[in-house]
Amino acid sequence: MTNTLKFDTLAVHAGNRPDPATGARQVPIYQSTAFVFKGADHAARLFNLQEVGYIYSRLTNPTVSALAERVCALEGGAGAVCCSSGHAAQIMSLFPLMGPGKNIVASTRLYGGTITQFSQTIKRFGWTAKFVDTDDLGAVAKACDKNTRAIFCETIANPGGYVTDIPALAKIADRKGIPLIVDNTTASPWLCRPIEMGATLVVHSATKYLTGNGTVTGGIIVDSGRFDWSASDKFPSLSQPEPAYHGLNFHGALGPMAFTFHSIAVGLRDLGMTMNPQGAHYTLMGIETLSLRMERHIRNAQKVAEWLEKDPRIDSVTYAGLKSSPYYRRARKILPKGAGALFTFAVRGGYDACVRLVDSLELFSHVANLGDTRSLVIHPASTTHRQLTPEQLVAAGAAPNVVRLSIGIEDADDIIADLDQALAKATA
Ligand SMILES: *Cc1c(COP(=O)(O)O)cnc(C)c1O
Repeated sequence: MTNTLKFDTLAVHAGNRPDPATGARQVPIYQSTAFVFKGADHAARLFNLQEVGYIYSRLTNPTVSALAERVCALEGGAGAVCCSSGHAAQIMSLFPLMGPGKNIVASTRLYGGTITQFSQTIKRFGWTAKFVDTDDLGAVAKACDKNTRAIFCETIANPGGYVTDIPALAKIADRKGIPLIVDNTTASPWLCRPIEMGATLVVHSATKYLTGNGTVTGGIIVDSGRFDWSASDKFPSLSQPEPAYHGLNFHGALGPMAFTFHSIAVGLRDLGMTMNPQGAHYTLMGIETLSLRMERHIRNAQKVAEWLEKDPRIDSVTYAGLKSSPYYRRARKILPKGAGALFTFAVRGGYDACVRLVDSLELFSHVANLGDTRSLVIHPASTTHRQLTPEQLVAAGAAPNVVRLSIGIEDADDIIADLDQALAKATA
């Protein structure tokens, strides 16, 4: 039945069935480290991946699995794995694909923390990232060499109001025989389903819109199940005997579930970036209202962006829902329901006016987060993006005069009134 249910129904029901022991209607928080084997034979079958079941919560847990199943259904994937954070999901998405000397081709327009993770930290594993402007499709294709193992982008790049042409990148990835990984955090599957546009893997920071109220740190990877890992010798962890799992050939044995099972049986087992059941429970509850929240987020963001654009105290607004945006037409194609609720604007008066603005806002919370029910504000150049060089700042859409808003689900008139009074103080 799940196959025919629509998005809003899946958001409430996917992964959830009454608890067989108690009849509990909500997904229980299975706060248990280990699960009892029915006997030695059952235990052996579980460890051999011949039977799906629960062993130990670093690998799988019923509450966490319910969440994986729900997000998998919403993204239209074959399998999903939950992780301890969005950043953990990124590392876990690369882990089965990469090895020392291998690289990824990544968009220059990414979340600040991801740029740092990809430009610095992954080097410790012998992995590298080549950053390319993903609007230059020729440059993307050219950057893919014989050691490239994935292309990585975000649906809506934070903070620049940039929308990625996912189908165009998917075509390049296909031609090169490598997966396209899309970070869909800032869009959520309600606005965009990258797998339908050709993505192989979708990663999420569940910390943001999926949970939706700023309570949880979590991440999720969804696999389309469509990539042929055995078509080349590029992905030996999936297509050849995996020494880290007694020589199992994951793709040969598990087909479209190869990536998911490898991520659990080797990735979570050895890297331990596991989501906890309490967090999974909060995210499951958050997703029940994802559609309702996103509808309001989008409507408010459009109103606020239109108001700001007309204001003489503002230099520019980068929201792909505005006709003035160079990404307006692309957004209509990639994000037909709306261009998200995250955008930046440039304040007349530069860096100092931005700092005064942030300090004068009362309804907005000044935090390093996005996708909360509450409206949030941050000045990237002095906070999230301060580790970037001046060139990286501009490339990432975080110039010194730029403020980022994450528009909440409050009454739009109250959001606008708060911006109005703070702008008066900032530009006085
Ligand atoms: C927040 C965020 C991340 C990192 O997620 P965490 O849960 O904070 O680790 C990655 N990508 C995007 C687009 C984000 O907004």
